[in-house]
Amino acid sequence: MQFYSESLTSYLRLPTKEVKVGELLLGNNHPIRVQTMTTTDTMDTMATVEQSIRCIEAGAELVRITAPSKKEAENLLHIKNELSRRGYKTPLVADIHFTPNAAEIAARIVEKVRVNPGNYVDKKKFELIEYTDADYAEEIERIRERFTPLVKISKEYGTAMRIGTNHGSLSDRIMSRYGDSPMGMVESAMEFLRIARCENYHNIVLSMKSSNPLVMVQAYRLLVKTMFDEFGEAYPLHLGVTEAGDGEDGRIKSAIGIGTLLEDGLGDTIRVSLTEDPELEIPVCKDIVKRYQGRSTKYEVRSTKFTTESQASDLQLSYSPFEYKRRETFSVDNIGGHHVPVVIADLSKLQSISPKDLQSIGYTYNEATDKWTISDSAADYVFTGHLVLNFALPGTLKVIVYPATWLMVEDKTKYFPIFDDSGYAKSEVKSNINFVMIDCDISNTDCSFLDDFTNDPSAVLCLSSQNALPFHSVRRMFTELMNKENKSPVIIIVDSNWQTPDEHLIHFATEAGALLLDGMGDGVCFGMTAEAYKKQESSIKNSSGRNYSQNLSVEQFINITAFSILQATRTRISKTEYISCPSCGRTLFDLQKTTAKIRAVTNHLKGVKIAIMGCIVNGPGEMADADFGYVGSGPGKITLYKGKEVVKRNVPSEIAVEELVNLLKESEVWVERSEVVFQS
Ligand code: SF4
Repeated sequence: MQFYSESLTSYLRLPTKEVKVGELLLGNNHPIRVQTMTTTDTMDTMATVEQSIRCIEAGAELVRITAPSKKEAENLLHIKNELSRRGYKTPLVADIHFTPNAAEIAARIVEKVRVNPGNYVDKKKFELIEYTDADYAEEIERIRERFTPLVKISKEYGTAMRIGTNHGSLSDRIMSRYGDSPMGMVESAMEFLRIARCENYHNIVLSMKSSNPLVMVQAYRLLVKTMFDEFGEAYPLHLGVTEAGDGEDGRIKSAIGIGTLLEDGLGDTIRVSLTEDPELEIPVCKDIVKRYQGRSTKYEVRSTKFTTESQASDLQLSYSPFEYKRRETFSVDNIGGHHVPVVIADLSKLQSISPKDLQSIGYTYNEATDKWTISDSAADYVFTGHLVLNFALPGTLKVIVYPATWLMVEDKTKYFPIFDDSGYAKSEVKSNINFVMIDCDISNTDCSFLDDFTNDPSAVLCLSSQNALPFHSVRRMFTELMNKENKSPVIIIVDSNWQTPDEHLIHFATEAGALLLDGMGDGVCFGMTAEAYKKQESSIKNSSGRNYSQNLSVEQFINITAFSILQATRTRISKTEYISCPSCGRTLFDLQKTTAKIRAVTNHLKGVKIAIMGCIVNGPGEMADADFGYVGSGPGKITLYKGKEVVKRNVPSEIAVEELVNLLKESEVWVERSEVVFQS
């Protein structure tokens, strides 16, 4: 295997070893399994059973339960028996951190155990110790001694195992040699995998989770490459973005990370970690997975330099799938070059556009003062089709229209044309910014037409595809552009024809997010097909049962989604980032309520990363690169962190949010709420 995927030009799942979890088979092309984790106290048998049943009824094919110590591991037997008595045979997974003794008990009871190689044997001290080769080898031997008994028990009882690395909890040993990197995550799992293979134990699934989808995607790709390089085969992959948060942000982060890998054909089971009730994770998992059910493997995006046939020997990728580098472009006005990706709002489905309509894309007009207020997530351009606005535009907002309309518009400093590729070549009159639509159709193997745009300083290319593999088609076009050394900025256009708000979110996040993670794209424009738009007008507005994005217009929903995708791919930061754990049996406070409370007072702190973690055992390690941490450290007690450093210990929970705000103020990241106001 030269890269990490069976095919970069068609949808082909990576063949992995078959793993048996109770009666459930995963890997080896079995359906992608969906799973979740309970949030109840494991010692509360009935509460855990009831919640497990809600998850199973929602469609969970595996249910994970935390087992922090021997007593919880032992109680798994009561939970399993009660579930069985009620007719539920869904395999259970014990979640282990720090306690090999608990793992060894659980492996005799449940169908699968999850170990975290970062803390199964090691106690993390957040110290960077220098390890000689001899020290390192000695530590590996220590791991072998502690881990081998669990492997032997699992083998004897037919228990499966997940070796689950988390970006935030790498051991000091790994950190000292590989740093806080995707390669460190891979090596952390490989150390354990090699020991298991020595015992001829193969009932193993692997995961590489991070709260940052970019790190997570790179780690999984590197893991697959490393397994093939070393063993010539791969074990099944459990995909997930950890501490993804709640609402649309949690769904978007998860869909970007999981969706990017599923598009590459990687992934055998998924979990979407939301700070919500666990049964609410399952519909999101199902929405992600159903995109691949029945997907034809016969379609192939062809290209002279990007083909399956040539992949084994001479596939030429002009970017690295293992490290982030933004595609080099020149700038056309504020698009491309060093500019953050722009957001183009599609308002072309509106019959008419008034100042009030711009509120949905971040511009609020006050008639009394004749002033505009512009939010941090205000679109940069609007596409209006044939409509010309009969009012003065706010701030730097610009309008994209069809060429015939553009020719008639007087103010050519604010209006710009969008051509199709042949129309652009033929047009005699052009603007200083010309948007050029390119349909990246699979049948289009001849890309010589791209030569027309190479080094055209006014062309902004708009790539889209309506075929069966839109992501693969657009990625292939980016590769063609790079191979031709074309440096024109590119807008990623994604249309959705799905039905529900979550399906649209997932579609936009997967199709655009997967490209942005590989450094492709200088802007996004999302829309819905006419049929989907009509349906969503009512469904988004009346989205009862959802705890986020209610009562939004389609345009507002899409605008929020676009900015959230750019934030999750860390290509454009427009708001506060929350890293909140999904909670589990270790959680020491109501995570959902507390997250909402913290969000309410800090959601104007653009670019600040705040972690909200349920326990001090795993929280500090798992909160990865958060700037501030709010961590449960005992019943009614919160410990506040600045980076990895404890700054306020055991604060009473009643005043902890206030103390967090004080900490933000002391750290000079606090700003009062304000908005940019422009005279119209
Ligand atoms: S950080 Fe949250 S999910 Fe992780 S172990 Fe602690 S309470 Fe459970």
